[in-house]
Amino acid sequence: MKTVAELSRDLASKKISSVELTKHYLDRIKKFDKTLNAFITVTEDQALENAKKADEKRAKSAAGPLTGIPLAQKDIFCTLGVKTTCGSKILDNFISPYDATTVQKFNDAGLVLLGKTNMDEFAMGSSNENSFYGPVKNPWDLERVPGGSSGGSAATVAAGLAPAATGTDTGGSIRQPAALCGITGLKPTYGRVSRYGMIAFASSLDQGGLMTRSAEDAALLLNVMAGFDEKDSTSVDKPVPDYTKKLNNSIKGLRIGLPSEFFNQGLDADVAKVVQAAIKEYEKLGASVHEIHLPNTKLSIPAYYVIAPAECSSNLARFDGVRYGYRCKNPQDLEDLYKRSRSEGFGAEVKRRIMIGTYALSAGYYDAYYLQAQKVRGLIRQDFSKAFEKVDVILGPTSPTTAFKIGEKTADPISMYLSDIYTIAVNLAGLPGMSIPCGFAKNLPVGLQLIGNLFSEEQLLTAAHNYQKVTDWHTKQPEGF
Ligand code: GLN
Repeated sequence: MKTVAELSRDLASKKISSVELTKHYLDRIKKFDKTLNAFITVTEDQALENAKKADEKRAKSAAGPLTGIPLAQKDIFCTLGVKTTCGSKILDNFISPYDATTVQKFNDAGLVLLGKTNMDEFAMGSSNENSFYGPVKNPWDLERVPGGSSGGSAATVAAGLAPAATGTDTGGSIRQPAALCGITGLKPTYGRVSRYGMIAFASSLDQGGLMTRSAEDAALLLNVMAGFDEKDSTSVDKPVPDYTKKLNNSIKGLRIGLPSEFFNQGLDADVAKVVQAAIKEYEKLGASVHEIHLPNTKLSIPAYYVIAPAECSSNLARFDGVRYGYRCKNPQDLEDLYKRSRSEGFGAEVKRRIMIGTYALSAGYYDAYYLQAQKVRGLIRQDFSKAFEKVDVILGPTSPTTAFKIGEKTADPISMYLSDIYTIAVNLAGLPGMSIPCGFAKNLPVGLQLIGNLFSEEQLLTAAHNYQKVTDWHTKQPEGF
């Protein structure tokens, strides 16, 4: 399975055309997606047409480095004229009338959309079992979850149904599935990538990013995806560097922080061993390792499960059966229309969160819950700023365990929520984070998490690329695909 960087060279040297490449991936989707259930929509005709256009551009030497590269988009990004469901029955009939900025940017750069990937409904979940379209299977073990909510994108890239895909990360949804599927995931700083046209879950936490086979690929794609967007009021107007430029810089002297809270009893012993070996590798590369503390880590899940549901209860009010999406049959009156459209259109987890959020925001409870949670969020941010006075990058496991069995945690939402114990604080603080493959525990991939200070994507990518130059975990492929 080739990386985007390799494919880009093959396209440039005319070793392969975009039409050939696109057909190759469409064939693989046809062959393997019955097993994996990673796609909700495959845009075959459109993909072949766009691949043809990309080849014409190349013939006229009017191509950019990524012109003609196939890409899968998480089905949370609105795509003009294409079904955009967000994994929900309530949007099962929704054809988007516009492109998300991210989609637009990749189209403008000549990438070829292969289709839309499966995901937990409205990105709420850590296992992809909350999708209206059924669970996604982990290509490393078909009885196991790929992680969530960007599980469709993770399985797609791991099984080679696309060379790269987009994801979104509100509490870990890029990094955790990347870890569980043995690929590279990058969640940029909040505000680095536009949220326009990315269906909102929790607006102060949501961030789009990338799921790729290598850090180099993430850098190539971030060059396209990052940047200010006047259509997103939280997007940050800061110049976008060429993220590939410093990839090969040495990391000698890089100060790595290991938070003691990430290596406690909740961490699977086999995962811990693999992560420790990765830390040794970093030391060999010349980095220094320091113990640090993020004392409020344990409060991140409770704070998140007030803030995220509060924001989602407000964001999801727009799905009311009136303007777009699912509408119940034969409503008796307006209230019946709202009630039944929403009751029939949303799944159980989404309803649970809307109820928690509505409760937390209601008069009399706001101060006790939402305000408190925002204060905790401030403390978590401070933990990180203190840590970054002493270290450049924070390192640890992405997930406390490897991929768990389908059905294993569905009856126990709290244990499901704990899958994100190492990722959620990063979103609360708005920081960039990555997950890179660093080995296997009982034949299942383990992810190493790298957390950087605000807008330090370049440094994170350099740290990840240096590791990938001396290890081959990111090149491993699941058998049978
Ligand atoms: N698993 C977390 C949740 O269920 C995070 C999801 C996400 O990052 N979109 O909310």
